[in-house]
Amino acid sequence: MTAHTIDGNALSKQLRTEVAARTQALKAKGVTPGLAVVLVGDNAASQVYVRNKVKACEDSGLHSVLERYDAKLTESDLLARVHALNQDPSIHGILVQLPLPGHMDAQKVIEAISPAKDVDGFHIASAGALMTGMPGFWPCTPFGCMKMLESIGYDLKGKHAVVIGRSNIVGKPMALMLLQKNATVTICHSATPDLKAMTLQADVIVAAVGKRNVLTADMVKPGAVVLDVGMNRNDEGKLCGDVDFEGVKQVASHITPVPGGVGPMTITMLLVNTLEAAERAAN
Ligand code: NAP
Repeated sequence: MTAHTIDGNALSKQLRTEVAARTQALKAKGVTPGLAVVLVGDNAASQVYVRNKVKACEDSGLHSVLERYDAKLTESDLLARVHALNQDPSIHGILVQLPLPGHMDAQKVIEAISPAKDVDGFHIASAGALMTGMPGFWPCTPFGCMKMLESIGYDLKGKHAVVIGRSNIVGKPMALMLLQKNATVTICHSATPDLKAMTLQADVIVAAVGKRNVLTADMVKPGAVVLDVGMNRNDEGKLCGDVDFEGVKQVASHITPVPGGVGPMTITMLLVNTLEAAERAAN
């Protein structure tokens, strides 16, 4: 078997066309969805991420503001900016790019964002909403994974999903989303004694670890769907995921590549969340 590759770029393009159309419809009612991206410091990777997010907004017709601050900005000044953005009617989504400089309490800053504008879905109110099945914003990366499953018409009901990784931004919300769609969910982590024994039982595997080759072909049940969230560098310095793509694609039925898989979907879901925030505010 050679797995079907789920193309995150193609799916993103399709979803962004839908976002652009909904944005135009909202603009016709006098509301332009707006995202504020706040970057503190000069972390090289963060600078690339925020540029990509702002550009994606512009390409889809959303308004976006990039606020850049020196790494020496005080936490209270950052909190004051977040409070001001909470009050700004032209801004529907606020994203504070992580990591923040060491002298700041990132969770405190995230909690300062109004839950109605928490388009990253990292606020405790958003986590609680996901946990209880209430309306709220879902973290973009696992939300993108759910869209990828939806794009192949995959019915999770009664399926066994194994999530590798339990971070607050990927693994845990991923597990809750899969559970909400009636999968039976197992969460694995660094203290899981026999990862292979778990993954071999899985109909769906989501790898969100940040280590190359965490998932190899011998760990995958034939026909399983494999989503690779990981972002690592191989020996040649090229971007790669957590999954041994070449090996696993011989066993799985569907697989996401790195690059061109979950990565572009993450930004797309940020646009979707921002648009959704603007639509909610308009209604
Ligand atoms: P993280 O906070 O470092 O969490 C990694 C998780 O992997 C932890 O729960 C850890 O377990 C678990 N783990 C570590 N070694 C393991 C092992 N050998 N077997 C099983 N589990 C193991 O990372 P994250 O923020 O969730 O991100 C995970 C990966 O996704 C990273 O490569 C990151 O760059 C990538 N990512 C990609 C996107 C995207 O848009 N494509 C977005 C976000 C993140 P413990 O909890 O026990 O330590």
